[in-house]
Amino acid sequence: MVKHTVLVTGGAGYIGSHACVELLQSGYPVVVVDNLSNSKSESLARVEKITGKPLSFYQADIRDRKSLAEIFSKEPIRTVMHFAGLKAVGESCEQPLNYYHNNVYGTMVLAEVMAEAKVRQLVFSSSATVYGESASVQYSENSPLGPINPYGRSKAMIEDILRDLSAADKIIRAKLPWKIALLRYFNPIGAHESGLIGEDPNGIPNNLMPYVLQVAIGKLAQLPVFGNDYPTRDGTGIRDYIHVVDLVKGHLKAIEALESEKFASGGCRAYNLGAGRGYSVLEIIEAFKRVTGRKVNYKIVPRRAGDLAECFANPELALKELNWKVEKKLDDMIADSWNWQCKNPQGYA
Ligand code: NAD
Ligand code: UDP
Repeated sequence: MVKHTVLVTGGAGYIGSHACVELLQSGYPVVVVDNLSNSKSESLARVEKITGKPLSFYQADIRDRKSLAEIFSKEPIRTVMHFAGLKAVGESCEQPLNYYHNNVYGTMVLAEVMAEAKVRQLVFSSSATVYGESASVQYSENSPLGPINPYGRSKAMIEDILRDLSAADKIIRAKLPWKIALLRYFNPIGAHESGLIGEDPNGIPNNLMPYVLQVAIGKLAQLPVFGNDYPTRDGTGIRDYIHVVDLVKGHLKAIEALESEKFASGGCRAYNLGAGRGYSVLEIIEAFKRVTGRKVNYKIVPRRAGDLAECFANPELALKELNWKVEKKLDDMIADSWNWQCKNPQGYA
């Protein structure tokens, strides 16, 4: 397959920067657009250091139509990997308009500019949060959707918009149909094995692994474990953790699928990216001690509003249609997260 130019929106962020590494190492020229609202350009300097290859970076907001159109006119973009967006569930409840504006409106502007530039190949960062409560704790792509917060709803709305765009192609018999992969991530953790790039959360982390890391390194005193009375094997919440490098490899597999016969007449399809098995919070704490030798102080506190007891992926469709599955184990995820944390105790600062 010819390695064409990929525009990575949100490429300076946690997952986007890992995607840039994987793309460059696989021979794709990379263009990044990021407004640096939740990242630093240092991550991109590190991407270049890891790969020994340059990328083009534009500091711009995806809602800025003029800047975006200029980038499309300058660069020979063929695929867009769309990571840019806001992602904190709690913050989305406090600032719903900001979330819908960034995520939904931002994606609309991006899609409009793409259509004008005749670029109709898109890999979108969706999330397992689009699923609603269901009878089974293992989620397949056809499990019922029902997000319960503005962040999750912004992802579900974007999925709807992109599905509608693709459906319209059939009605108007588009010559250049949209080819779209909606990738529903489970719980990405870990970092590049070099320890040069990783997750650099602002303030006190919301997510489990960054919190565990900051307790282990002594920045935070104690991990709050949100509930030990769930109907799970040890009472704590179970999630499907996935190494960020495995996750971004799934994006490259998605590009290959979009370029293949399977999508020859266009289409918009959702794929779960997860391992297909879950670990509880206490199992993560235990594994962390085994892998790093560090004990994580914790305290059981009441449940966090909106948390499911258990949630993990059925990843069979991604295996069948994208030829992708996770390769890394929980111990790799923990070892790589810890390596990043120890080498960068202040993140990119
Ligand atoms: P991140 O915050 O590290 O990266 C997002 C990047 O997008 C940041 O660099 C930020 O500066 C940029 N950005 C935000 N709004 C922008 C805008 N309007 N214009 C240009 N740039 C903008 O987050 P991440 O963890 O790398 O997540 C990437 C994507 O994956 C997001 O869309 C997120 O919703 C989705 N996702 C993340 C997780 C997770 O646990 N990290 C899980 C499921 C889905
Ligand atoms: N969790 C916890 N303490 C924390 C953060 C998270 O006990 O400080 C639990 C949370 O209740 C869930 C799991 O860890 O069961 C994963 O939470 P995270 O916020 O990382 O991901 P998500 O809620 O998006 O699945």
